[in-house]
Amino acid sequence: MICTLALPVPLRRHFDYQIPESWQVEVGCRVKAPFRNKDKIGLVIEVKTTSEFDIAKLKSLTEVIDTQPIVPPAMLKLFQWASDYYHHPIGDVIAQALPALLKQGEPDQLKPTPLWQLTPLGLQAEPSQFKRSPKQLIAWSLLKGKSLTSSELNLAEVSSATLNALAKKGLAEKTQQQALYQRDWYTDFGLSETKPELNSEQAVAVASINSADKFACYLLEGVTGSGKTEVYLNLIEHVLSQGKQALVLVPEIGLTPQTVARFKSRFNVPIYLVHSELTDRERLDTWLHGREGSAAIVIGTRSAIFTPTRHLGIIIIDEEHDSSFKQQEMFRYHARDLAVMRAMREQVPIVLGSATPSLESLNNALTGKYHHLSLKQRAGNAQHARHYLQDIKNVSLSAGLSPQLMELMHKHLKQGNQVMLFLNRRGYAPALLCHECGWLAKCQRCDAFYTWHQGDNAMICHHCNSHRSVPYQCEDCGSTQLVGAGVGTEQLEQTLAELFSQYKAVRIDRDSTRRKGSLADYLDGIQKGEYQILIGTQMLAKGHHFPDVTLVGILDVDSSLFSSDFRAPEKLAQLFTQVAGRAGRASKPGQVVLQSHHPEHYLLQDLVNNGYQDFARSALTERQDALLPPFSFQALFRAEATYANLPLTFLEEMKAIFEPYVQQYPQIELIGPMPAIMERRAGKYRFQLLIQAPNRALIAGLLGSCMSEVEKIKSGLKVRWSLDIDPTDFI
Ligand code: ADP
Ligand code: ZN
Ligand code: ZN
Repeated sequence: MICTLALPVPLRRHFDYQIPESWQVEVGCRVKAPFRNKDKIGLVIEVKTTSEFDIAKLKSLTEVIDTQPIVPPAMLKLFQWASDYYHHPIGDVIAQALPALLKQGEPDQLKPTPLWQLTPLGLQAEPSQFKRSPKQLIAWSLLKGKSLTSSELNLAEVSSATLNALAKKGLAEKTQQQALYQRDWYTDFGLSETKPELNSEQAVAVASINSADKFACYLLEGVTGSGKTEVYLNLIEHVLSQGKQALVLVPEIGLTPQTVARFKSRFNVPIYLVHSELTDRERLDTWLHGREGSAAIVIGTRSAIFTPTRHLGIIIIDEEHDSSFKQQEMFRYHARDLAVMRAMREQVPIVLGSATPSLESLNNALTGKYHHLSLKQRAGNAQHARHYLQDIKNVSLSAGLSPQLMELMHKHLKQGNQVMLFLNRRGYAPALLCHECGWLAKCQRCDAFYTWHQGDNAMICHHCNSHRSVPYQCEDCGSTQLVGAGVGTEQLEQTLAELFSQYKAVRIDRDSTRRKGSLADYLDGIQKGEYQILIGTQMLAKGHHFPDVTLVGILDVDSSLFSSDFRAPEKLAQLFTQVAGRAGRASKPGQVVLQSHHPEHYLLQDLVNNGYQDFARSALTERQDALLPPFSFQALFRAEATYANLPLTFLEEMKAIFEPYVQQYPQIELIGPMPAIMERRAGKYRFQLLIQAPNRALIAGLLGSCMSEVEKIKSGLKVRWSLDIDPTDFI
């Protein structure tokens, strides 16, 4: 017998091995096999009797790790699909999808929890023995009833020191207990809080999705504050009551503690979170709880889509338009697209929710591929915010704020409300400028300027992260008149401290929230009203619910009006709508002010006057006219190296391989090779070759027949290159 392995190596080919006589090997089990003189752990993806290679020359497996498959067949099929669709090596797909500990050969078992129990000596002890240590008496009495974990004992205020003291006397001991899966959570399933009554739009959405008993994809297009989360909670309630699990994907868990808290307070079931701060052990345990059905709800970021389930009931993607669902390195999958595929294979409904759906999803809904559900009303008695465009041409600004905006701020603050200022540039100033000659401090490794960070007393390149101390003199003319050009959040915060000294401001960006837990503290402070002015980058735009914010000021988005990325208008519209949606979410009416040097720009006019829904529909028409996605499909090859000629040569050779195929299928377009939008980054020259076609099959056909040739191109060894299917950015 022969088996095909997925090995964690970035090679697009199959690895076949002989299975030694009498060994039991099944698909989905881990084995060890020799690879380049070393044993590697691989996952068996096929067991067969033939091979495309010479069987006599195949090496033999060296060890079988699992006697039973550890990856459910449905997940294996999803990995295989992803590998084919993204033209990414199956070994690397699986390496990225599985918890790290499984890749290292750890058993697929929960971590045993140590239990404290009394020794025979301890069982015979008398209370009088503890006269001089009341703490030990408490611990002893608790343990007399039953064995307990350290954390259970800690909850009863028994410290580890006390337990160790008992152990030292030979009265108590720690034993290892295999953790159990709690699969019976649904037997006494009930809500742990009363829920609001749904409005009619919400009720329609819940009823139609609940009626799906197999695969169906729903786009839930609901304006911010329309109660999408409440819809999710109702859908999940239905699924849980059937004893099935729910998988929920969110953009960034750290940014949405409120959402997670709402799930936890509604349902009295085991909820597991998947995010980047989990330890390897926590990640594996969560994966196992999903696989065994003891995780009723799994909530997580992008990679949570790889959590296996035993009885999946629904998949929900919140803020489906969010760019964080796309992985931008190595295995460049889109978690939303994988989720739709997974829902289809496992025959469960999937809900894509957003106030600002991606044009891809919206198009699928408008053409009837997805079901389209709308929530147009704000939930409760919240009203829609009023929007204003503020012309700032020839207006003198203080740290980016116009006098009119500042006056409005005073008005709202005086009424005891909160004001939010959105500025998507962290640091003190986006550039450092010589006031005498115009010199700008430029990163030596990128086509970009250094951002001046006054707090760190450094210049930092936001593209390669190189740090430099702030120069005293201009490098061109020697002048000491160096000033910041433009405004960042740090500067805005300082200026506000002077101009609005009677109010407390909080800044939320990647710099101010570096310390673990600080973001949660700030968000908490905002809820409690400790801060009146909220300054933030897009971190502040995502999904928060701040009931007392009545004024939102958006300071500087003009640069995205003139970007060469065809998705820039869509991203700007999403950002604007999400930020604006933070205003007036409760019963207080909200106001949104957008400052711009180009208030007449059609995009801003459309957004402010007609809203995202209108904008998105006209943007779709434009994409259709220009034959851009979602009306065409793309695959992007990226290549980079220290010298510009290397990636260029490589991509030209690649193009030559594609050309005969393209002559057969002239609907395929090859665009490039051309420099990336940022041609030089981190010391590397970057080039791209774009493939575009009216349908996916054409691109898949081209890649399917040419990729093995591409891999053999010699100049490819001198560059770093990658393939991105359905790319979402060209930077
Ligand atoms: P979204 O997810 O669309 O931004 P949420 O679900 O967070 O909206 O709802 C916004 C606010 O309205 C929340 O405070 C929520 O508790 C409340 N809410 C949602 N649905 C209802 C309802 N049917 N009746 C009353 N309040 C509701
Ligand atoms: Zn100068
Ligand atoms: Zn740089």
